Amino acid sequence: MKKHFETEAIRTQMERSQFAEHSAPLYLTSSFVFEDAEELRAAFSDELDRNIYSRFSNPNNQELVDKICTLEGAEDGVAFASGMAAVYTSFAALLNSGDHIVSVRSIFGSTHTLFKKYFIKWNIKTTYFNASTPQEIEEAIQPNTKIIYIETPTNPGLDVLDMGYLADIAKKHQIILVVDNCFATPYLQKPLSFGADLVIHSATKLIDGQGRVLGGLIVGRQDLITEIRSFFRNSGSALSPVNAWVLSKSIETLAVRLDRHCENALKLANHLENHPKISQLRYPFLPNPPQYEIAKKQMLKGGNIITIELKGGIKSGQTFLNQIQMCSLSANLGDTRTIVTHPATSTHSKLSTEERALVGITDGLIRLSIGLENIEDIKQDIDQALEKV
Ligand SMILES: *Cc1c(COP(=O)(O)O)cnc(C)c1O
Repeated sequence: MKKHFETEAIRTQMERSQFAEHSAPLYLTSSFVFEDAEELRAAFSDELDRNIYSRFSNPNNQELVDKICTLEGAEDGVAFASGMAAVYTSFAALLNSGDHIVSVRSIFGSTHTLFKKYFIKWNIKTTYFNASTPQEIEEAIQPNTKIIYIETPTNPGLDVLDMGYLADIAKKHQIILVVDNCFATPYLQKPLSFGADLVIHSATKLIDGQGRVLGGLIVGRQDLITEIRSFFRNSGSALSPVNAWVLSKSIETLAVRLDRHCENALKLANHLENHPKISQLRYPFLPNPPQYEIAKKQMLKGGNIITIELKGGIKSGQTFLNQIQMCSLSANLGDTRTIVTHPATSTHSKLSTEERALVGITDGLIRLSIGLENIEDIKQDIDQALEKV
């Protein structure tokens, strides 16, 4: 019988060694040994599925992959040194020169840089559609479109994209639908169950959850993962087993952490909703149609990211940041510690005001990644900073 999420997250574990350890050990070894020439031959010709070299596979990495596959409902997967290694490798393995990508406009900054600065060197072009008008996607699709790429909820606009709707379009045109599920994690949202073909994670964020290590994953359709794995093994973006061990342990507490992250975020969103210094507040689980209906359909809870729009633009954004006392000014998200960022002067400062507007980043936009401190202390810090704006 398939067990519940929390149980799978804890009980999916590598085989015990002869030492009968309870918690999975760390396998720091670059290579693995063979009994005889025949075993060596069989392993190298793929007749035997076993570890050869840690650039290819390692027990700690495999445990992490097995957990995410189980939790996402995926056939197979690969773990990478970072989220961006996972993003890059999936495109590099699946696309040929001349292929085309259709992507939501509001995507992670480095993914945008790959599309617009590097992939064009290999004659792979990307057309963006706006998150608020997904029907544009049909116009963006060309005969050579091979991948539809989305994040939902988007960063930092928090637009929620209807995965079922996009999967139907992708299927109709025989295009691979790839979902970056970093903001939701499999606890809140399972893109494969809505028809996506591949799911990407930056494990650096909520999967680690404590701001310690980098990591990335791709899970999904077997035939695609086989292609990706082959490229991965030969191009060297393997995850360190140390990081895999940390991430696998983190997943054991993913559900309880996310419950509290989401509870804190919803409380703060309700608390700030009609604040006089804020012109707009976004949180996927505040009744704000039509995206609220989509969020309810595909997400268990609203996640831990809130965005607020301060009246007064760049200056208020910077004043707010300078007045923060407890929360951290950092570019990460999904940490135990609440983090505040001002995208217009940090993560998205290289874009023009017009380009930022297209991805929903106004000058006074603040992104809050709600942590696990006591909600009263988070509220107090945000409140006192808002008072001084
Ligand atoms: C952070 C992030 C990435 C990149 O992950 P790294 O682990 O930093 O390489 C990709 N997508 C989203 C949505 C992210 O937030």
